[in-house]
Amino acid sequence: MPYTYDDQNVFAKILRGEIPCKKVKETAHALAFHDISAQAPHHVLVIPKGPYVCYDHFALEASDAEIVDFTRTVGEVCRMLGVQPGEGGAGYRVISNAGQDGVQEVPHLHVHVLGGRHLGRMLQ
Ligand code: 5GP
Repeated sequence: MPYTYDDQNVFAKILRGEIPCKKVKETAHALAFHDISAQAPHHVLVIPKGPYVCYDHFALEASDAEIVDFTRTVGEVCRMLGVQPGEGGAGYRVISNAGQDGVQEVPHLHVHVLGGRHLGRMLQ
């Protein structure tokens, strides 16, 4: 399915440097930064630099290089935050909201990396 990408969304503006962010990590194809409204002691957003609206858009249309870079960046962020299970970390949650039912606020793909507290059960 083709998606229409709105390049006026807030994450596009962050990528263009038009508004600031608290950067955690930047790679060739991805940017990680702190969520402006943290829902946990650690709450980092990881976004691809390309104009992808949501997860399926990215997973099916991005290049292998973009997908590998983005996926690895998510993993590296978990380790940078020290939330990986074992070795001192106590775990984390990675989620990506899409569309109306997913209650996606910003129409540029992002995954939330949450950790630093017990996150409760999400699915019953
Ligand atoms: P969504 O509901 O789309 O999955 O999540 C969007 C996230 O983006 C929210 O957690 C919100 O706090 C965050 N956010 C919205 N605007 C900004 C911003 O200007 N800067 C940063 N760093 N995060 C933002």
